[in-house]
Amino acid sequence: MDENIVKRNELLAQKVIKGLESRNMTGYYAANKEEALKKALEIIPEGSSIAMGGAMSAHEIGLVDAVKTGNYRFIDRDKAEDKRACMLESYDADFFLASANAMTDDGIIVNIDGNSNRVSMIAQGPKKVLFIVGMNKVCADIDSAMKRARNVAAPTNAQRFGLSTPCAKLGTCMDCKSPDTICCQFLITRFSRHKDRIHVILVNDNLGF
Ligand code: SF4
Repeated sequence: MDENIVKRNELLAQKVIKGLESRNMTGYYAANKEEALKKALEIIPEGSSIAMGGAMSAHEIGLVDAVKTGNYRFIDRDKAEDKRACMLESYDADFFLASANAMTDDGIIVNIDGNSNRVSMIAQGPKKVLFIVGMNKVCADIDSAMKRARNVAAPTNAQRFGLSTPCAKLGTCMDCKSPDTICCQFLITRFSRHKDRIHVILVNDNLGF
């Protein structure tokens, strides 16, 4: 990454962290993926039960491999035979690993979901939520964060899952009501009622979509 962008991200991350603090959430800055993984493993105590949604960024920093192979109880929805039982168990997890479809530079987190397990668990359920967010997700305001979520994150995810949506074909949102739409629920996390529940590691790298 260009050194000027690295510097800009470093400065911008401090603004995001202040914004998160003002919203009763905790932000951390990581200069790269390795630092982000180290910080995540400092936040999650060994022995914790851990669930997750489709957080590519958590995979990209090596966190998913680390908790699967480490001294944690990973609730693996991909391997679960009874998906509903797995979902209900996930609601009671110690940690939920997530990423964001977009964030504002004053600490608001935006997520869009189809099945909606991810947004529901961010909103309530698991005792703590740990977001891994690349600085490429940070936008100037809620309007641009929503536009990013719908025109960058959602079409890319629709393509990734091979869904039959207009955005998968055109690369941009057509505000569809397709049966395959992944834009069923929109979650804007602007404040956490419970201090120490939501933690966000901002990584100075491009992560996820
Ligand atoms: S509303 Fe439809 S077209 Fe728009 S991003 Fe969501 S799935 Fe794609």
